Amino acid sequence: MTQTPRPAHQTPGIHHKAVGDLIVTALNDGMFEGSFAMLAAFETGTAEQMHRDRFRAIPPKLAVNSFLVQTADRTILVDSGCGGNFGPALGKLTGNLAALGIKPGDVDTVLCTHLHPDHVGGLMDPAGAAVFPNAELVVHADDHKFWGDDATLANASTDQDKGFVTLARATIAAYKNRTRLLTAGEALSGISIVPEPGHTPGHSGWLISSGAASLLIWGDIVHMPGIQFARPDAGMGFDIDGAQAIATRQRIMDMVTADRTMVAGMHLDFPCFGHVAKASEGYAFVPDVWTPDL
Ligand SMILES: [Zn+2]
Repeated sequence: MTQTPRPAHQTPGIHHKAVGDLIVTALNDGMFEGSFAMLAAFETGTAEQMHRDRFRAIPPKLAVNSFLVQTADRTILVDSGCGGNFGPALGKLTGNLAALGIKPGDVDTVLCTHLHPDHVGGLMDPAGAAVFPNAELVVHADDHKFWGDDATLANASTDQDKGFVTLARATIAAYKNRTRLLTAGEALSGISIVPEPGHTPGHSGWLISSGAASLLIWGDIVHMPGIQFARPDAGMGFDIDGAQAIATRQRIMDMVTADRTMVAGMHLDFPCFGHVAKASEGYAFVPDVWTPDL
């Protein structure tokens, strides 16, 4: 008896989107299995029912993505996925870049949404050296200050919290001679930083504008798409300031709904691009329709 041929996995998780003159490419880093207990002050049974209603995985699975932005003269990464920190199911960044013909040395800029391990883990090799030898690290000043502060390390009470702080500090060290700190209202190569504090103090989106087109890469405004669009009041246990994170999520959802801005996010379902619409309960994500051209 012969077996049906079965691919072991998807082809590389790469999806291009033209934003005016720029090409933004979503790079899937893998997925990890989470738990509804990651939600803060949100009833597990309600979360499970929401996933059942939406035909989503129970326990929840969270996509991890980063983005490549190619302009006329720059090769920019927005976050870097997990690197080797969460096992072989994640850390696909360098493989995805290689599939695009991009070598680590070609990347000149890394825009960072915040210094959590699923966003900066791919910036260092196992020895702690910079993976991207020519890249400038660009991050909100408040995140750089928070994670670099000795008090943050001293206050980390669990092994997980200590691990988060240690990895953030390793990132700061690996890129310390080529780091640029931005705050509200500043931009780099026409890409503006949009402060979204709460998840971390300097958590930020990056707003790309080109001609009439725009895209907000919003970082971690949503971790669980099956829950937090309908219920933006559902926080995450590892939000540094939970109440502020909820207020920020509400503000950003209102903004992109009113402005009709396309969004992409590090934990939105690959291929990540879409719009936010008002729904009978909260909001809904409206995925961009796939087309063969960009
Ligand atoms: Zn994250």
